[in-house]
Amino acid sequence: DALTEPKPIIRLKESVVNKIAAGEIIHRPSSALKELIENSLDAGSTSIRVTIKDGGMKLLQIQDNGCGIKCSDLPILAERFTTSKLSSFSDLSHLTTYGFRGEALASISHVAHLSVITKTAAAEHAWKVHYEDGKLVPAKAGQTAEPKPCAGNDGTIITVEDLFYNTPTRLSALRSSTEEYARILDVMTKYAVHNHKVALVCKKAGSSAPDLSSSPSSSTSQAINLLYGTSIGKALLQVTCGPDPNTTHTSKDAESWKAEVVFTNASYQAKKFVFLLFINHRLVESTRIRRAMETIYTSILPKGFFPFMYLSLEINPESVDVNVHPTKREVHFLNEDAIVERVCNVSQERLLHKSQSRSYPTQT
Ligand code: ADP
Ligand code: MG
Repeated sequence: DALTEPKPIIRLKESVVNKIAAGEIIHRPSSALKELIENSLDAGSTSIRVTIKDGGMKLLQIQDNGCGIKCSDLPILAERFTTSKLSSFSDLSHLTTYGFRGEALASISHVAHLSVITKTAAAEHAWKVHYEDGKLVPAKAGQTAEPKPCAGNDGTIITVEDLFYNTPTRLSALRSSTEEYARILDVMTKYAVHNHKVALVCKKAGSSAPDLSSSPSSSTSQAINLLYGTSIGKALLQVTCGPDPNTTHTSKDAESWKAEVVFTNASYQAKKFVFLLFINHRLVESTRIRRAMETIYTSILPKGFFPFMYLSLEINPESVDVNVHPTKREVHFLNEDAIVERVCNVSQERLLHKSQSRSYPTQT
């Protein structure tokens, strides 16, 4: 019968392997955009402008004023595992950049048409290139694949067109362009809160009015007020904290962390919990931390009502393992329980007005 003869094991073609890998990183337009925003932030940009057509499925363009890319690096830019941010495995333990695997642009080039215009401050003009499947390709048949000189400002414009044109199942799994656009705005708004010194703009192609426009703010609370509205803005409390000075730590890692928490008081009552979590500046998700932070409200909000909360944790990079999830969304770190408990306690104390005047010194 069918069970007797095992099927032969074959080696997958490189193009298949690359498409599978791409699918693990780029789930939808907003995940592509997240990678691109992180690249722009890594490049030191102070202005990031995004243009979207069809929820990002037709066009996703991001223009930054960062350091640009050297012409000599362009031939390998979209190959897998090419990066300027990591060179040895041990570098992973003191990363200060978002990127590290050199897979984002490669992945995008396997599931979309990718083009780049970039100029460094030292270059006399910009360069333009097109990529397919990790490699430079000519803009039109008959032309060469080499970078073409062109006009352009300092910084980089990345253009992603026809996302998932060659992976129809992925394309059909996407929601409406309205919903994909909402997800893009959500990711951008969260990054705009966390990077409140950077100006982020997002608009639909052909429309002159942006749907998101963050002018640089002086504080996180001010940015939240601007981006999420005054009903949240006027209810905000804030604490910063580090390890509990009253407990002695035996582990060195536990001693170096700090948290900034900006959260609503009992006067704000929403139908769902909006929780922005950044760990070492990376937007991540953690059901455990989310649940823990939610519990500090159980005694003060009516059942079925929720707060708004922004939590930024900075932890010794050596105690964070960023490499557990393909989208880098899920992060694990040492002493997670103790740190989260301390952040909960300090926030709850503030919430319950027990300590209006007490300040929480930030320890580094
Ligand atoms: P990673 O971010 O993991 O290094 P990416 O594929 O996202 O990998 O990017 C590859 C490299 O391309 C980066 O290491 C960086 O040197 C360069 N790069 C990408 N985007 C930009 C940008 N907007 N500005 C400057 N350099 C960029
Ligand atoms: Mg990157």
